[in-house]
Amino acid sequence: RLIATAKESPQEEALERALRPKRLAEYVGQQKIRGQLEIFIEAARKRSEALDHVLLFGPPGLGKTTLAHIIAHEMGVNMRHTSGPVLERAGDLAAMLTNLEPHDVLFIDEIHRLSPVVEEILYPALEDFQIDIMIGEGPAARSVKLDLPPFTLIGATTRAGMLTNPLRDRFGIVARLEFYTPEELALIVRRSAALLDCHIADDGAVEIARRSRGTPRIANRLLRRVRDFAEVRAEGRITREVADAALTMLDVDHLGLDIMDRKLLGAMLEKFGGGPVGVDNLAAAIGEARDTIEDVLEPFLIQQGYLQRTPRGRIATAAIWRHFGLTEPAAQNQ
Ligand code: ADP
Repeated sequence: RLIATAKESPQEEALERALRPKRLAEYVGQQKIRGQLEIFIEAARKRSEALDHVLLFGPPGLGKTTLAHIIAHEMGVNMRHTSGPVLERAGDLAAMLTNLEPHDVLFIDEIHRLSPVVEEILYPALEDFQIDIMIGEGPAARSVKLDLPPFTLIGATTRAGMLTNPLRDRFGIVARLEFYTPEELALIVRRSAALLDCHIADDGAVEIARRSRGTPRIANRLLRRVRDFAEVRAEGRITREVADAALTMLDVDHLGLDIMDRKLLGAMLEKFGGGPVGVDNLAAAIGEARDTIEDVLEPFLIQQGYLQRTPRGRIATAAIWRHFGLTEPAAQNQ
């Protein structure tokens, strides 16, 4: 539970905030989106306009919230932070919108979970910087148009496919965040270690980076755990050997797969003969929500070529049979 999901204690969250880069230049990786944003931000600033609305999508922990903060910072404006499930009633969103200053950023995390009534309010707000709100009830009720200051909506979601088309169409800038390379993650680990005042050898940073599922949040989390281990067992010095011992103790294997990954893949091999198996059957077999499998676990496993998604269901690849030290049934028959 430690590794794969996004939930953290308040103390951990404070640490995570402290490690967030503040400027675009400090944001590691994601070259394409960074290059685009540099231009769009500079152009908007030159014209003294709000930046176009931005949709960021990608698995948890890849830096969507961080990027939203950076955009606000680079634009020199404030950012308000909310999320789809928190905005229950139309009035909740109207209150946030009417409190914005010109060019402010409104960040809505999990934007695919907005309720339809709230989403309705958002359309004219995004397009014309106007909202229609209902005043009064029953026959005396009437709709009133309110003007809003020009603002930038930044929406974040794990899967762009879960947004309704009319909502998706209203974003001028749409960016998909990619998993990070081990080299990029090693940079992030070294930077975080410096901020945490912790001694790490280059090969120690590389080892943590290699085993972080391509995800900065996991890299930072593993760094903190390895630091604990190093303080108790290795005089605070993180070398490759120390990182390896600590990560093995944390049940992160050499491919960087954690307990949840192995539970999922193990069930695919042992209960479903490697697939194809439907995601609902998998969810039931391992006692996890379907969304957790689709949003948190699967993307990395697919990107690494351990798992394939086919119209008939999920299939474990030969690499995973090998990793588990098992023989693929098809291979047995040959
Ligand atoms: P998301 O919103 O996509 O779930 P976050 O923006 O909260 O992810 O990122 C999680 C953590 O990872 C942040 O606290 C930050 O320290 C780190 N991080 C994310 N992206 C980067 C990056 N490109 N460069 C450096 N650190 C990053």
